[in-house]
Parts: sequence; structure tokens; C-alpha cells
Amino acid sequence: MRDRPGATTHQLDPHVRRILERAELEGVELIRFLYADHGGVIRGKAASRSRLAERLGTGIGHTVAMMAMNMLDQLQEVEQMGPVGEVRIVPDPTTYVPLPYAPGGAAMLSDLRLPDGSPWDACPRTFLKDAVAALADEGYSLVAAFEPEFTLGRRLPDPAGGLDRLVPLDDSLCYSATGFDTAHDYTMKLVRALEDQGLRVEHYHPELGHGQQELSVRHAPALRAADNHVLYRETVRGVALRMQMWASLAPKPLADQAGNGAHLHLSLWRDQRNVLAEDGAARAGFIGGLMAHLPALTALTCGSVNSFRRLAPRSWAGAYAVYGPDNREAALRVCSPLGESGEPNLELKPSDSSANPYLSLGAVIHAGLDGIRRGLDPGEPVDVDPDTRPGRYPRLPSSLDEALDALEADEVLMEALGPLRRRAYLAVKRSEATAFAARDVGFELAHHLRVF
Ligand code: GLU
Ligand code: MG
Repeated sequence: MRDRPGATTHQLDPHVRRILERAELEGVELIRFLYADHGGVIRGKAASRSRLAERLGTGIGHTVAMMAMNMLDQLQEVEQMGPVGEVRIVPDPTTYVPLPYAPGGAAMLSDLRLPDGSPWDACPRTFLKDAVAALADEGYSLVAAFEPEFTLGRRLPDPAGGLDRLVPLDDSLCYSATGFDTAHDYTMKLVRALEDQGLRVEHYHPELGHGQQELSVRHAPALRAADNHVLYRETVRGVALRMQMWASLAPKPLADQAGNGAHLHLSLWRDQRNVLAEDGAARAGFIGGLMAHLPALTALTCGSVNSFRRLAPRSWAGAYAVYGPDNREAALRVCSPLGESGEPNLELKPSDSSANPYLSLGAVIHAGLDGIRRGLDPGEPVDVDPDTRPGRYPRLPSSLDEALDALEADEVLMEALGPLRRRAYLAVKRSEATAFAARDVGFELAHHLRVF
């Protein structure tokens, strides 16, 4: 099917008109249409400003095969994702942002649609939108924020032609004042770049690991929270590159240092009230659903081989399938509210930035919703470090393959993913597990810090 000229109708849309005006005024020449793939990689194509009016309507043509590509750029064999077939990368006009770290560039978060404009079964952003809609059908909405950590440093090529290494910026201590100073110039640029894109910065601190930073942004409705996380990942990397540095959000870019989480903060709302603030059936069911599906969820929230190097006990990454009030070793921490106006929220710790945020948040919604619908019992909260009670509490999967086994056994999540998406996701992730199992840890670290 040929592209439809979209300019005429879409110029009537106020969002579109504003984008075109802004792009011209702000000297933007290339607009990146971004999406996240099954390998958790952010990819896209860019439209020139001169073609933007039309491309906002038609999207840019793309091969279906890219959703069968793994994080090593190895194409997997997936039925209906071969060399024949076409989708469109169609940007959401409400997400347009000029990129402060890429002068002349802007970005828009995009859906993958069929040429006739209908959503494609393997579009990750559509998966999250559908989950949000299913939750709304039951009268609820979800507010979320990713709380990412990352490692800042320089990427050093191996003079012998081997794999690059990440040399961390500093060896400052956790939360230390020295760490604030060593990373200050970068952090200031990052804060400004995020704020310029409409992400509101909440907190920052130098983290435990060498070169490790944590900077959190304000919560938002679920789809916006996932979009924000894509922009965040891009900005962390982009700002570093402009300063001849390298930033990695990989779960464990340095084997002997603390891992990088992207804890997922969640609150559930009904009729303008935070359901988590009330000790009711919906709260219990939502937590019960997350607990019941946790092992399978990790296949989506901890999306890479490297994720499971991070997801270990005694590292505050939430390696045990338990929940508890302010328990930093529980997979699900029930966070106490900050001050009188603060809202209680849940913090899912087995979550990192190698996940596709749309799939991860969508799956979390489906898990919680299942718990509400079936009135699942979350069991007793745990108020000790579960690792101090050997054999008492269940561990989460300790490898990507184990997590994928749990996912395949989880009827609710498999059904939610649907045939095409689950086939592709499993093929891509199984291929990564196999590819990294055949190589050493250095290969795993080098490739994860390159991509994430
Ligand atoms: N770095 C830890 C992780 O991998 C989290 C530490 C913290 O609680 O901030 O999740
Ligand atoms: Mg932290």
C-alpha cells in the first residue's frame, strides 16, 4: 500500500501544527521516531523537517523483522517477522521533544502500526496502552515512575582490538559529598536536559558503585512514565557522549560493583483516591497479583542476561519473592509516604533499564489486575531480610532462561502478550541467553554496557 499524504488533515490537529511551528523555530532538522524492541533496545528512524507534516500522518515504513532482532543485532527466525512484511513507525504527536544533547534533533515516541493505520499485534507501546485500558475498564488507573541508576565513566578501547572496557568516573563513596563534586558538571547538564524535555527531576545522589549515579524523575500516568523512561535512557547516554564520556544503565556493567536498578514505583488510583492508602480488597488483590506473577514478570522487568547478575540477595535488588513495608531486600517494598502530603506507593525492585519499559509496565498492570479480579491473597508481609532465613522464602529466577520458563508457564501473562508478541519475545530472549552462555563474562558486560 502506498503512503497516504497526511499533511492536509493532520495540519488541522493543534498538536501537529504546534510541532511544525516549533521544529522550524527551534532549528530542528531531524525528528527521531523512537520505539523500544524485544531486546529492550531503543531504535528508530528519523524524518527530516521538510517531510515531517506528511510523516506525522503516515509514519515511516519499517520492516516487521526488526521486532525479531536481539540485542546483539542477530535476527531471529520468527513466523510473520521475516523479510516480507511492513509496518509503520507512527509517532505520538503529544510526545514531541527537541533533544538538548543533540542540537538540531528532536524525538517522538512511536507506535508500530500496520500500513492501514491499525495497531500491530507486536507493538510494545500498544501493549501498554491496552493494559491501561483494561485497568480503566475495572475503574482503576496506574501512576508510575522508574527510578534508574547508571554508571558514569569512559569507554576505553582495548589496544589489542578486544572488547571495550568501562572505566568508572570515580571511586567515591555512597551518597558522599565527593561523589557530588566529581560528577557535578555532568549531573547539571543531565538535570537541565531532562527538565527541558518535561521530565521533572526529583532527587539525585552519587550511588554505591564506582561511578554510579541515581537520579529520579517524577511519577506520571503509566504510558507517560514509560515514555519518560525511554527519554531518560536516551538523555543519560546522549549527555555523556557530548562530554566524551560513556554512561551505562546496564544492570551490571562492572562485575565487582553495585548493579543498576530501575525500581518501578507504582500507585493505583480509583475515583481520585490512592487505593494503596486504604487497607481494602483492591490493595490486597493488586499486591497479591504482583506476588503471584513475580517469577514470570522478571522475564519482562529484568529483560537481559545481565539482569540476573544484578538480581542477587544482599544487594537491595529484591531477589526474593516477598513484599514488606520499607523492606529493601523484598522484591516489592511497600514504601511509607514522605510527609503528610506524600502518597504510599509500591516499589518493584526486580526491574532494570535493560527491560522494554512498555512491556514491563504493561505486564505489571496485567499481573495486578489479575490479582484484583481474582481477589488473590498477598500472604503475610515480610519484615526481615529474607536472606537471613535460609529456605524460608522463595527466590526469584536466577537466570534469564529460568525467568523465561516461568513466563511460559504463566497463562495470564502469555495470554496478555498474545501469540505474535510472545513468540517473538521468547525467541529473541532465548537467543540472547544462548549467545551469552557460549561466551565469558567480559563479553556479556561489554555488550550490555554498549547497548544499555
Ligand atoms: N543498586 C541497587 C539495585 O540494583 C539498589 C540500591 C538502592 O536501594 O537504591 O537495585
Ligand atoms: Mg539506589
